[in-house]
Amino acid sequence: MSWSPEFFNPSVPDWCRDECSYYVTWAFGNKCKYGCPYCYVEKSKYKYRPREHSEKKIIQAWDNMFDEYGPVFMSLSGMEPGDDLFLLSRILNLGHYACLTTNFSMSIDDMLELIPQRKVVIHPTFHPHKDDFSQFLMKVLMFKTAGYRVPVVAIVGYPPIVHKIDEWVATLGLYEISVNVVPMRFVEYDGKPMPEGYTQEQREIIGRHCGGVVFDDQAQVRRLNIRACAAGHATATIAMDGTVLRCGEDIPIGGNLFEDGIIKFMDEPKGCNMEFCQCGNLVAYHIEVD
Ligand code: SF4
Ligand code: SF4
Repeated sequence: MSWSPEFFNPSVPDWCRDECSYYVTWAFGNKCKYGCPYCYVEKSKYKYRPREHSEKKIIQAWDNMFDEYGPVFMSLSGMEPGDDLFLLSRILNLGHYACLTTNFSMSIDDMLELIPQRKVVIHPTFHPHKDDFSQFLMKVLMFKTAGYRVPVVAIVGYPPIVHKIDEWVATLGLYEISVNVVPMRFVEYDGKPMPEGYTQEQREIIGRHCGGVVFDDQAQVRRLNIRACAAGHATATIAMDGTVLRCGEDIPIGGNLFEDGIIKFMDEPKGCNMEFCQCGNLVAYHIEVD
């Protein structure tokens, strides 16, 4: 059976599923102060198509989206969203909801003042070459205490710190915060391509905390007799320049959010020619197989 906006959308987190019919991933952040050695966003397609539209056009587009579809749940990707807090605040105040993945490098006072608690879930990311763990933990707890949802912290599996991960996971667990360890991908470490360059011991540590998907052979989900996929119909991905895509793969639906002022979602799920699908836990919902 196909999805329609009258049904709940399982891609939207349960805490705002009653409000939001559509789920959109948006490559919102286009800059970051950190310069991490494992950052692949710098090299990704987001950078080939930088955001050039005025804030006025962007805000107008999200205002139109609210009028047409009601509140939308947006998962913010790209670089650091906290570097554009004022723009983000204006968009959320139109009525939308968001998942904010942030390294907390912005002014914490500004964030507490500008980002409405009930509209967001915060996914902090810890970067050990820039932050001290105890200071990072203090920031996480400040947001929790202020009433924000902070269910999970991400730590990149950077080889020099992998041996510390079990200890950090245990500490965060004391505050009922889960940890998602993200293996390095698409970059090299010590002259070796990652994630293949991890030692067996590092693989085991990362494997304990990464939700079961570590290396490419596990991450790739084979496309077996896919009849239809709801990506582009119930969800969409917005590239940094506003191009509307079906999902994290570069498959345009047609149109540009900031030029057209609206997303035209596909009328129904469609087939997909990708040989592999890596759309993570959205996959189970998206794909109908024979
Ligand atoms: S904090 Fe994230 S976006 Fe910024 S450089 Fe590091 S990995 Fe890249
Ligand atoms: S099957 Fe996977 S790659 Fe293809 S459109 Fe759906 S989510 Fe994207």
